[in-house]
Amino acid sequence: MADIHLHQVHKRFDDFVAVRDSTFDIKDGEFFVMLGPSGCGKTTTLRMIAGLELPTSGQILLDGEEVTHNPASQRDIAFVFQLFALYPHMNVRKNIGFPLVSQGTPRGEIKQRVEETARLLRIDHLLDSRVSGLSSGDRQRVALGRAIVRRPKAFLMDEPLGALDAEFRELMCEELRLLHNRIGATTVYVTHDQIEAMSMADRIAVMNQAEVLQIGPPAEVYARPATLFVANFIGSPAMNFLEGEGGLPSGAAAVRVKGGEIAVPRLHEELKAKRAVVGVRPEHISIREDGALRGSVFGVEYMGTRQLVTVDTEAGRLKVRAPNTLRVSDGENVSLSFNASRLVVFDGETEAAVRSDLYSEAAHG
Ligand code: ATP
Repeated sequence: MADIHLHQVHKRFDDFVAVRDSTFDIKDGEFFVMLGPSGCGKTTTLRMIAGLELPTSGQILLDGEEVTHNPASQRDIAFVFQLFALYPHMNVRKNIGFPLVSQGTPRGEIKQRVEETARLLRIDHLLDSRVSGLSSGDRQRVALGRAIVRRPKAFLMDEPLGALDAEFRELMCEELRLLHNRIGATTVYVTHDQIEAMSMADRIAVMNQAEVLQIGPPAEVYARPATLFVANFIGSPAMNFLEGEGGLPSGAAAVRVKGGEIAVPRLHEELKAKRAVVGVRPEHISIREDGALRGSVFGVEYMGTRQLVTVDTEAGRLKVRAPNTLRVSDGENVSLSFNASRLVVFDGETEAAVRSDLYSEAAHG
């Protein structure tokens, strides 16, 4: 078990900054997910934690001890790669036990730990099978087994489910999370898939262009995104954005947009930007008689218990998640209401969300 601390970790490849001054903590036993688009620096951060890449500057601490310059072999961390190279000519037992054999662990202990690991992963019935005949899911489990059997301080996983099809990925996400609940080892997991991140993480670090933009539990990152980028990246369908026609003076409780005014939690400090942007999730807009904004229905998608209604307004095209008991049809004129306590106001220039302590009234309350 381990906690991991990064302090001002910076990585340059020649003139290119891959990771910019990252400072954050990963708690002991936590399932921590680094999420962001391709090229944002997730893998480089993970490789620095593993000891496979040296930071240009900054420190990395493992259990309070500085390991920045220690080689990977001295960090007691298991790295699970996407395409884990299993030994096809060996059976499952030998594949899982391999790291222990190379460490010179006594035979009896290897047998016991391999069997315990296989039971944990529910592949104990396959111990004597060759890996070449296994399904891709079972191969992933063997790969995980090989990492778990060492009982490392932490697991680092770089898009381990990337090669699997969507349905199977969902299943493996569930399994990985259950496995984590059983063994409770600190896990750092890299993905560009927000659904994976939301379903597994205790906390998510959202990255873009070499920077960590926000760290928080999935529900918090979803409800209170710190920047426009985070708001856009998390959630499917994405958050709706309404461009304000100006800033937001101190004490104001509404943002003027094309075609109407959106009530927002009252601010006790002026939003110093020339323009505000209002962010609202589809489930926080409702179709009512006396709403703040009028529009016409562009399309309706049925999604089981809910329906997703796309509405064209003067302020832009908005997605509304509505109960499927509501009867609306294409081209119909509707009026939209916004749940003020759930809106997020952004500074249109810095793209940062207004901090919740700047509101006089409780937002998201
Ligand atoms: P992906 O999911 O595509 O791997 P990522 O978020 O994990 O994306 P990194 O692999 O960390 O991103 O790469 C961050 C940036 O650093 C990329 O632009 C990449 O091209 C660059 N980079 C990574 N490793 C090197 C290297 N050894 N030399 C030069 N540039 C590198």
